[in-house]
Amino acid sequence: VAEKETLGFQAEVKQLLQLMIHSLYSNKEIFLRELISNASDASDKLRFEAINNDALYGNDHELKIKVTFDKAARTITISDNGIGMSRDEAVSHLGTIAKSGTKEFFGKLSGDQQADAALIGQFGVGFYSGFIVADRITVETRRAGLDAAEGVRWESAGEGDFSVEQIDKPNRGTDIILHLREGEDEFLSSWKLKSIIRKYSDHISIPIQMQKEEWDEEKKETVVKDEWETINQASALWARSKSEITPEQYEEFYKHVSHDFSAPLTYTHNRVEGRSEYTQLLYVPSHAPFDLWDRNKRGGIKLYVKRVFIMDDAEQLMPTYLRFIKGVIDSNDLPLNVSREILQESRDVRAIREGSTKRVLGMLEDLANAEEQDKKDKYTTFWQEFGQVLKEGIGEDATNKDRIAKLLRFASTHGDSDAQTVSLADYMGRMKEGQDKIYYVTADTFQAAKNSPHLEIFRKKGVEVLLLTDRVDEWMVSFLTEFEGKELVSIAKGGLDLGKLEDEAEKQEHEKTESDYKDLVEKMKTALADKAKDVRVTFRLTDSPACLVADENELSGHLVRMLKAAGQ
Ligand code: ADP
Ligand code: MG
Repeated sequence: VAEKETLGFQAEVKQLLQLMIHSLYSNKEIFLRELISNASDASDKLRFEAINNDALYGNDHELKIKVTFDKAARTITISDNGIGMSRDEAVSHLGTIAKSGTKEFFGKLSGDQQADAALIGQFGVGFYSGFIVADRITVETRRAGLDAAEGVRWESAGEGDFSVEQIDKPNRGTDIILHLREGEDEFLSSWKLKSIIRKYSDHISIPIQMQKEEWDEEKKETVVKDEWETINQASALWARSKSEITPEQYEEFYKHVSHDFSAPLTYTHNRVEGRSEYTQLLYVPSHAPFDLWDRNKRGGIKLYVKRVFIMDDAEQLMPTYLRFIKGVIDSNDLPLNVSREILQESRDVRAIREGSTKRVLGMLEDLANAEEQDKKDKYTTFWQEFGQVLKEGIGEDATNKDRIAKLLRFASTHGDSDAQTVSLADYMGRMKEGQDKIYYVTADTFQAAKNSPHLEIFRKKGVEVLLLTDRVDEWMVSFLTEFEGKELVSIAKGGLDLGKLEDEAEKQEHEKTESDYKDLVEKMKTALADKAKDVRVTFRLTDSPACLVADENELSGHLVRMLKAAGQ
């Protein structure tokens, strides 16, 4: 039998604990939601592992969560009969933070309590939130499939270290025992606990039970009975009909699946019938996660098959450019023992992905085209947070390219502000008489774009130019060559043809100037032979004497600089 051992927390855990206890104190009841959420995840995991190994259930098939409290001992216990943890799992899962983005998260902490409290909300708090109300937490757990003698007791006061020892545990699963801090006795009340459970955890798909209480006339006090009642609705939220779900319930469910504290921007909930049958409940978050640009980042879609949890982060269910979408997809057609490999090949999965992509685009269009100010504001937020990712869709999703193009927003010379608010339709609505192209310029920064010498002639003629300064823009415009019959052209490339924007008199004047300067241009060509491919008289400048121009089919200066920076 292994001895009791004391181990230190990972440095980040200590930091997180400090921060959480102080900054989340005003919202301390969320500890119960987090611990119930973990119990529910543990039950999902057991159900999934048991698909191929029914023995894991033993003689206990009914998954449930129990919440009890002991007034005399001043403890609250959250118990589940889910997957449980082995000793090693307890040490690593409850002693370190494995989340991707942890590093970036800690890098962003400022020391300002209020700002940091907002950040921590975005990070998701989890198990350690128990320490907001408890000065000691005991975890007793046994992994499904292990013997009763292989139970584990993990204990910590939430400071520098924790202990682990082996114990006998008759039932599989996990008990989280919170030893309340001084002054937290308000939680030792069945009314209080029930109301928190109903508020935050109603959507949990397995029963959350508490013991019944009854007034005893003789003893003149309420006594706890040995009878259990279910506090939540205990059915999968996405399987209920829309009319039975309140906005608050949708919001709490979002927080559960996304580990996000803030409310989502919007969501869509549908049952799809026909060739392929599935339910989708998809959310657009209100802010980008820390690891939006992390290529190994997990996706946000949980896959269920007939209500059985199959896997997190089923990246095949959403195209990469929509990787920020969170939610659940529950299929009626896929086999329960579906693997990631099967998902890649499956026609059902392709149908689900196509259907879900259309839903998400529809949801974004609904915000983008809305008359209501609050929806407009939401689209502005969406664009700030996720616009750059959505742009990847122009190159990635040929089928929906036109729909995505309508969702794009740009900075332009119209407002001369770096706010990306101009749609291609706005631009077309302002096109000049005789203008048949959509003009843009790309640069590293807004300042550089705005001051580009190439813009001079356009400003003079009052022709709007889109100012593209996001990293992905150069790549994106290589796919977006046309919008509703109008060609998109870079004003920094090739022999700029202003078409009908140039009048006859100007044309004649240009031709005359060109012949006047013919000799000079020839001399310059010879002088610059190894530096410039060509030298031309230009009419695109009004104030600057000369500028560099890329060939039509060549990489622009901006892209060349980008590739150089990337070491190409
Ligand atoms: P998250 O739930 O986001 O992974 P938490 O801090 O809530 O983060 O939990 C950390 C980890 O501890 C979980 O991922 C899980 O592996 C383990 N864990 C926590 N509670 C339980 C439980 N009741 N049963 C089994 N494992 C648990
Ligand atoms: Mg959790």
